[in-house]
Amino acid sequence: MKRAYPIICGLLVLAMPVFTFGPAVRPLAVQARPQPSPSPSSASDDGAATYAKYTSGATGQHGLFTIWRKNGDIGIELQANQLGVDYIETGIPINGVGQSIFSGTTDLQPVRIIRFVRQDDKVAILFPSTRFYAKPGTPQAISVDMATAPTVVGVAKIVAENKATGAVVIDASSFLQDITGVADALNDLNSSAGPGGEYRLDSTRSFFTQTKAFPENVILSVAQTFSTSRVGDSEGLSVSPDARNLQIQLQYNIAAIPHDNYMPRLADDRIGYFINAHMDFTHDISTNKDMNYIVRWNLQPSDPSKRVSPATKPIVYYLSNTIPYRYRAPIRSALLEWNKAFEKIGISNAIEVRDQPNDPNFDPDDIRYNVIRWLAEVNGGFAEAQLLYNPYTGEMVKAGVVVDSDLMRFANFEYPSYVAPETKKGTASTFLGGGSGDDDFLSNERMNFGFGLTALELSGGTAASGDYYVPQKYADEFLEAIVLHESGHDFGLRHNFMGSDAYTAKQLKSKAFTSRYGVSTSVMEYSPVNLWPKGTSTGDYYQTVLGPYDYYAIQWGYAAIPGARSPQDEVHTLDRWLGAGSTATYQFSSDEDVMWNEGAGVDPRNQQWDLTNDNIAWCGTQMGMARDMLHTIDQRFPRVQAPYDDLRSAFEYVAGVHSRCSQIVSRYIGGEYLSRTLRGDPHAKLPLSPIPLATEKRAFAVLRNNLFSTDAWNLSPALLRQLVTQYRGDDWLGNAPPRHDIAIETLAAKAQAATIDRLFTPVMLQRFDDMDLKYSSGTTMDVGDLFSWMQSAVFGDTGSTASGDIASGKAIPLIRRNLQRAYAAKLAFLANIPGGAATGDVPPDAQALARYELGDLRHAIRRALGRGVPDLVTRAHLEALDADAQRALDVHGGSSGLSLSF
Ligand SMILES: [Zn+2]
Repeated sequence: MKRAYPIICGLLVLAMPVFTFGPAVRPLAVQARPQPSPSPSSASDDGAATYAKYTSGATGQHGLFTIWRKNGDIGIELQANQLGVDYIETGIPINGVGQSIFSGTTDLQPVRIIRFVRQDDKVAILFPSTRFYAKPGTPQAISVDMATAPTVVGVAKIVAENKATGAVVIDASSFLQDITGVADALNDLNSSAGPGGEYRLDSTRSFFTQTKAFPENVILSVAQTFSTSRVGDSEGLSVSPDARNLQIQLQYNIAAIPHDNYMPRLADDRIGYFINAHMDFTHDISTNKDMNYIVRWNLQPSDPSKRVSPATKPIVYYLSNTIPYRYRAPIRSALLEWNKAFEKIGISNAIEVRDQPNDPNFDPDDIRYNVIRWLAEVNGGFAEAQLLYNPYTGEMVKAGVVVDSDLMRFANFEYPSYVAPETKKGTASTFLGGGSGDDDFLSNERMNFGFGLTALELSGGTAASGDYYVPQKYADEFLEAIVLHESGHDFGLRHNFMGSDAYTAKQLKSKAFTSRYGVSTSVMEYSPVNLWPKGTSTGDYYQTVLGPYDYYAIQWGYAAIPGARSPQDEVHTLDRWLGAGSTATYQFSSDEDVMWNEGAGVDPRNQQWDLTNDNIAWCGTQMGMARDMLHTIDQRFPRVQAPYDDLRSAFEYVAGVHSRCSQIVSRYIGGEYLSRTLRGDPHAKLPLSPIPLATEKRAFAVLRNNLFSTDAWNLSPALLRQLVTQYRGDDWLGNAPPRHDIAIETLAAKAQAATIDRLFTPVMLQRFDDMDLKYSSGTTMDVGDLFSWMQSAVFGDTGSTASGDIASGKAIPLIRRNLQRAYAAKLAFLANIPGGAATGDVPPDAQALARYELGDLRHAIRRALGRGVPDLVTRAHLEALDADAQRALDVHGGSSGLSLSF
């Protein structure tokens, strides 16, 4: 079954339905839908009040529905023609708990359809089952109806009825229930509390807060208290003064479905649109039931007979009045940039940007407005796209972008980036260990920003900015790139992590090139700062223009196909457009292709934060630059009278970029190239192709020199004595880092482990082991190459007397000793784990190779010890290594199922 990818920069989407259904599916309950004619019971004394009696003394907010407020209760007035009708519904938290539940997240509840169905004197509030579709009126539709079940949100009492119009007012208290599953999310967070640690909704402390009514949507906000008697050690819950009683505020938005003759367009895996997934049971002509629509706006030219004409209904963005003046120009410029892509398909003025009107009634919650908002969260520093679309068709109803002010502030070397790696998320430090997760986008964007600033400062470029490290032009380009990317999501576009693969290094160094084509083929790529050694580049730092893929994607998704009367009619033309584009410039890959930690990512061209069509060379250059910067970094950081934390932050950004590149390069080791082309496409390739052995050797050489070698971590003692945390705010109370300085050997160990652990996961070992079945021997790396290359990189050339750490007879430095012990432990683990051929097993070959290499290591150590070693620590280290290896080899695993921990 297809799943929509709700990943927007690891962030938040206002509405991403996982499954949706076609407009004609109606659960059985609705087929028995009663007419809204008054029944005798509703007129009785214990039934509904008369409309006039109810509304006297109540406050009404008039919009899509009238919201009545009376004595703290909320009533929703539904007109007769609104009963049994479908609306779009979302439920999102207004506040978070700093973990799992965030302001604005849709992880709790995807967008749904909501329907109010009258039954006698009550109204059932339903979320219809939205997974399946069949053409209305067919036997298949009845079958689908019978197989699905709606969710009943509640059965609301009719509190008033207008006999003249058929309108009813229902009690809204169903919305005070835990509709979005907050308690479950909190319980997941609090699982360490054990028995008694369950959160439950406390209805006595839950109430409606703000309600709003607009012409096309209404907003119901609630404040709900979730209580428990025990709190575990969740860091997230500690943000509350008393986490036993947490108030979570939620905002429910109910919106009308647009009726504007929109025809959906069918999705295709070869191009990156968000999909609105359905399963169609109408036909048996295909084994594939997928009926997936792309998410997009209904944008049409006003005069299709002209080459270009204005949009019939442009997308109007409002810049909220909270955006600082200095940032409005880059935001406006990014949004308007999209007009160029729509002009190419005959639609001018597709996007308009206006300042928020000076009108107290203007409200960003009004669904008619697409708003760019600027927030000031306590611990923010993010940007996100917000989409709301019709889950039947994928038609976009409202979009927006939220930028948190800390995004620009963190990188200015303010406090949050100083926090110790072990105590806070979201700093560059989190990346040093190969971090990935929700904050991956944020920490990487801050790292890009900080790395670029540090480089500019070291080359003397920011001195004119006075106390402030950030030149405005640099900050503006950074922000413009982010808004371009987020607004791309607003048009329905998914990430394209293949976007960096088409351009050469020479092109990226040229201003003439990057100002026209960008630093990658798509703004939907995660592009790092485009930086080269001093004096070799004039290219733009960030992507401030649409790339060729973006033009192509907008054309594919939005250009009209004359004569097509159904989505199916368009398929032939859409296939043709895709085939014509299957070249490097138009390649597409996305989130599902970069899941490296899960083992699903295999193609090293599909990466985030890389540049050029030669990642290995580019990373070699970036790592060289990083090392050069670390040699001079303490000459410019900190400035006079500034804290040493500035130096530490700059160091973290630079070291973070260095570490990130080692991971990018490592993905060539044991990788394979993937192709999304289909048979019959021009330039079609087989889905899998080998990475040439020579390419893998190049990649491994970069790792050997920049990650595993001792030289890679050589920093001057003077620098190490300055890399300290000086901040002494009250935040440190009870939260002090364990050391004042940075333990460089820990950073090295983390960076090395991130690569080694991934290469030696069972799924990777299995893939290395069976390469020989797909490719002829010597074409690409095999499992033997992995073990022998690593053995050589970690221990030196153990088989030779001439070189290598162990054979050299010289002292072995600290970082090297740690690497050797850690890698020996990895071998010992593999040597004793029961091997097997099932998915998820360590292959027997890997187990055998681990044992072989441990034996080889022992042999080398014994020879080295026999020749004599220069100091006590080196001797102790070698003897310990030997003991580790001996123990691993002597323990014959098999049935004991032992787990060794070294
Ligand atoms: Zn994104």
